[in-house]
Amino acid sequence: MLTLDDVTVAKGTFRLQANIAVPPGMTAVIGPSGGGKSTLLSAIAGFEPAVSGRIKWGDVDLSEQAPGQRPVTMLFQDNNLFPHLTTAQNVGLALAPRLKLSQPQLMRVEAALEDVGLPGLGGRKPSALSGGQIGRAALARSLLSDRPVVLLDEAFAALGPALRAEMLALVRDRMAQQGRTVIMVTHDPDDARNFADYVIFVAEGIAHPPQKARAFFTDPSPAAQSYLG
Ligand code: ADP
Ligand code: MG
Repeated sequence: MLTLDDVTVAKGTFRLQANIAVPPGMTAVIGPSGGGKSTLLSAIAGFEPAVSGRIKWGDVDLSEQAPGQRPVTMLFQDNNLFPHLTTAQNVGLALAPRLKLSQPQLMRVEAALEDVGLPGLGGRKPSALSGGQIGRAALARSLLSDRPVVLLDEAFAALGPALRAEMLALVRDRMAQQGRTVIMVTHDPDDARNFADYVIFVAEGIAHPPQKARAFFTDPSPAAQSYLG
């Protein structure tokens, strides 16, 4: 279980507070723009230090760990691939950070590319891929990574509704249902309705505890209701 015990994150003058436990499965993070959703994910990933409180994975305190040491893989909306590496090399980073891939590892890379609908495109540089294909390749890398916490910050926002739904279904089937803790920020409440087990509502610098998605939408708090409209 991922827990944030009385965590405060500072980003300039902005403060985000979180006292939450995130269960395995698919958790959506929704709320108004500027409320602190990205700050929450950055704190879990270690890009923004917590100025107080502790972030823990099970009994392990992550607070002092650098981003690369944490059991976390994160996908952003842009810039998820290194432009100088081929698509296969970008995906292979999940298996071998120095890119010395064994034959079986190369086959796993190709299988992951097939999984996301990019069979045979491993030799291309990202500049020869569409935006949607880049998103899929980045997802393939996360699928191969064995890190148990997966953070998606509007990772598929550029894809359009149909492709985004396809990617989120893939994330749910390959990651959340296999026990990984997937936390996805989305600006579309329907993504949360359709794919999430839990919802964390973030507004005005507060990350509210996860609620079962169904309960969140059938009986929203006044603040969530005013956001949902
Ligand atoms: P969200 O992802 O919910 O839209 P963010 O976590 O990105 O919100 O931002 C939360 C708040 O932090 C915003 O209101 C913004 O004013 C502030 N903020 C974002 N980036 C910075 C920054 N680099 N320096 C100072 N304040 C920032
Ligand atoms: Mg954001």
